[in-house]
Amino acid sequence: MNKLSQQPVFWFIVGSQHLYGEETIKQVEVHAREMALYWNNETNWPAGVVYKGVVVSSDQIKKLLSEANHDPSCAGVISWMHTFSPSKMWIAGLRDYKKPYLHLNTQFNRDIPWNEIDMDFMNLNQSAHGDREHGFIGARLRMPRKIIAGYWKDAAVLDRMEAFMRVAIGIRVGQTLRCARFGDNMRDVAVTEGDKVEAERVFGWSVNYYPLGDLVSFVEGAADGDINAIMDQYHQRYDFKTDDLDAVRYQAKLECGLRGFLDQGGFQAFTSTFEDLHGLEQLEGLAAQNMMLDGYGYGAEGDWKTACLTHVMKKMAEGLNKGTSFMEDYTYHLEPGHELVLGAHMLEVCPSIAAGRPAIEVHQLGIGNRKPPARLVFEGASGPAVLASLVDMGGRMRLIVNDCEAVTPLQQMPKLPVARVMWKPEPNLQTSAEAWILCGGAHHTVMSYALNSTHLRDFAEMTGLEFIHINQDADIQALKKELLWNELAFKLNMQP
Ligand code: MN
Repeated sequence: MNKLSQQPVFWFIVGSQHLYGEETIKQVEVHAREMALYWNNETNWPAGVVYKGVVVSSDQIKKLLSEANHDPSCAGVISWMHTFSPSKMWIAGLRDYKKPYLHLNTQFNRDIPWNEIDMDFMNLNQSAHGDREHGFIGARLRMPRKIIAGYWKDAAVLDRMEAFMRVAIGIRVGQTLRCARFGDNMRDVAVTEGDKVEAERVFGWSVNYYPLGDLVSFVEGAADGDINAIMDQYHQRYDFKTDDLDAVRYQAKLECGLRGFLDQGGFQAFTSTFEDLHGLEQLEGLAAQNMMLDGYGYGAEGDWKTACLTHVMKKMAEGLNKGTSFMEDYTYHLEPGHELVLGAHMLEVCPSIAAGRPAIEVHQLGIGNRKPPARLVFEGASGPAVLASLVDMGGRMRLIVNDCEAVTPLQQMPKLPVARVMWKPEPNLQTSAEAWILCGGAHHTVMSYALNSTHLRDFAEMTGLEFIHINQDADIQALKKELLWNELAFKLNMQP
């Protein structure tokens, strides 16, 4: 059984000390239980919170954080110092702690009880300084951590806690992520290359090559009943704008083979390349699109970094009802005042980002030298989104994120036989493109309407990546300095 089949939970740990006596610690415990109960009952968080106790000694903290490391259901720890908890006793535990860590600086009582407040109240409700002591040890140990301050029922605080959880879930998913590469990357392409050993060290992603012939055996062995079931799903999900049902059925057969191969090997992501199609009759268009909709990570031309990142971001975004897809910057619209990017791919854009119901069409494909492949054609939804690219700088990975506003295409494109999205990148096309090119961002990206730059910044911080954010304040000269300083910081083995 895959150890991730256990639902993730977050451990809530409350720090204190013996100084205050049993009564105070009991009171802290009652409050902490009430908070965990509230979060579990009143939020739509993607994971539950398990209250793990009030900790008051170094041995106790070390034991609990060690258990957090080793318990596969624990996706991260949320800590809070209701009272004061001297931080030397946290050193041994935190030094060895490996999972995402949220330091919540909150207070059980929202308001000061003006008429009743006395020193007992102050001694119980002293996170204002208890959490500063805890903050110091996090800083002193240079530990990556998310810090959220505010009242624990406040909607904005709850939203930020949810975002932390989603990132931690993405990191957890990565620990067991397996990606099958059918074929290598496209010949001579540089940006889709990368250090797979480093990726496994940093993220846990296991990326390996598998001969296409092995996949072809699965495709040829697909059972009619299974192919029919996938055809039924195509009818449920999409319109058919083609009479070439044989071509569509071949994609269903291809999907059957892909799912069979991936499920048998425990893979959640895959790559393909049109340069190596061996015994396949079509490049996997519709098949890859339909599988992405179900959460599989996909990268074209052997791009395993984008395939893995697509899966991880889809898992972070699960339940948000907004799309996340493999994407490529394809063509510009440079009309002054209306500069836009047209994003698409030869075939493989995920229908989770479609504005309406996608249609299956069959068209000739000039590249790949195979039969005309069936693919989904649609326009992307409008709204705010992010584009993320992971590149290998040699010695470290860099995650580049550009905020954008996806828009309805200015006009119809009746002869374009692929799914397409248009967006205005922040701060504008010119500065965005110059910044993106300056820091080496790829033409392949993951586009997400569900996540924002905070999710990806936190992901980068928790995994020790370099993070570059191109947003409405982007400035090329400032970015040049940031890249230079980052280069130095990483050479000195410091994280910026
Ligand atoms: Mn491509």
